[in-house]
Amino acid sequence: MTLFESGAFEGHESVNAFFDEKTGLKTIIAVHSTALGPAAGGCRMWPYATSEDALTDALRLSRAMSYKNAVADIPHGGGKAVIIGDSRTDKSCALFEAFGRAVEAVGGRYWTAEDVGVSPADLLSVRRSTRFVAGLEGHIAASGDPSPVTADGVFRGLALAAKHAFGGDLDGVTVAIQGVGHVGAFLAERLHAAGAKLVITDVNETALRAVAERTGARIVAPDAIFDVDAEVFAPCALGGAITLDTLSRLKPRVIAGGANNQLASAVVGDALFAEGRLYAPDYVINGGGIINVAAEIRALEAGGAFDPTWVEAKLSQLMRTLDEIFLRSANEKRPTHVIAGEIARTRMAEGRS
Ligand code: NAD
Repeated sequence: MTLFESGAFEGHESVNAFFDEKTGLKTIIAVHSTALGPAAGGCRMWPYATSEDALTDALRLSRAMSYKNAVADIPHGGGKAVIIGDSRTDKSCALFEAFGRAVEAVGGRYWTAEDVGVSPADLLSVRRSTRFVAGLEGHIAASGDPSPVTADGVFRGLALAAKHAFGGDLDGVTVAIQGVGHVGAFLAERLHAAGAKLVITDVNETALRAVAERTGARIVAPDAIFDVDAEVFAPCALGGAITLDTLSRLKPRVIAGGANNQLASAVVGDALFAEGRLYAPDYVINGGGIINVAAEIRALEAGGAFDPTWVEAKLSQLMRTLDEIFLRSANEKRPTHVIAGEIARTRMAEGRS
């Protein structure tokens, strides 16, 4: 594969590969767009089988951040970093310091933060080499764990979707949740408090039992979640949960959850719309986390404190955007993922001009 011909390249502004001989660091920093401000997106550490896999992941994730940040109306473009390595065995302070030097070399066009395999403690090492890092802990600008804010947005977005689809609130509505990790567990508690009936699954038995005890949720096996008799399906585990195959098994009319990249392809989004289902585009409904990170960057740049009221204002605005997407989808008879994409691209084009 060559870079520019890669299906995932899609107009990236820059793609940077760094190797540090001393620590063995191999990292790719992809900057898809800075049209709306410096790119912001987390750093993922993963034992990719090949550097081609790492590049493809970096490009896909980076482009997705452009769309997420544009729709959330935060002053950031999209970017993402990947470190090739096993987070259980290959981490060291020196490696993350070297990663910080790579971020610094991008010259402020990319802000990093945590993602899969990277913790706030790792970011402290990154901070020794660059100031372009958010997601830190224990200082006045720190944003803390983004998961509760993400889950808050998902809860509000799910309630909005249910209102559009069924015309009522969540009391008595059955929601099937796939994955009760950070986001899924918070979401389950909010739904339980709102009177929803829950069916949950996870590959982690301990997490599953803990959430079931707190919420009275019914537990099903991981694969059985696609056959549950529910009104709403909330994917909160890994990406790609909704394929043409799983869609043929799903009963819920509403799909609204926190996971990234829920649709295996755009074809699946078209298919579920044609079947009369309502899908809350993932990068819209789960934008709370990046809003939280943007608030930290804002505070760091201003030398001030983290401002939760800014986060709430942006999250409320994002929910109005989601409402507009649902309304336009109904009026224009077009899928929600298409309309969300148009909103993001229009904002990026306005930013460029
Ligand atoms: P997490 O790792 O804490 O939780 C994911 C859960 O899914 C885990 O409990 C895991 O055991 C479970 N899981 C994995 N494979 C599964 C399967 N096949 N069936 C059922 N359960 C399975 O992650 P998280 O932070 O809660 O994030 C969940 C999703 O939301 C991810 O897709 C993430 O990218 C996305 N997201 C998270 C945030 C955030 O603020 N944490 C923000 C935006 C998007």
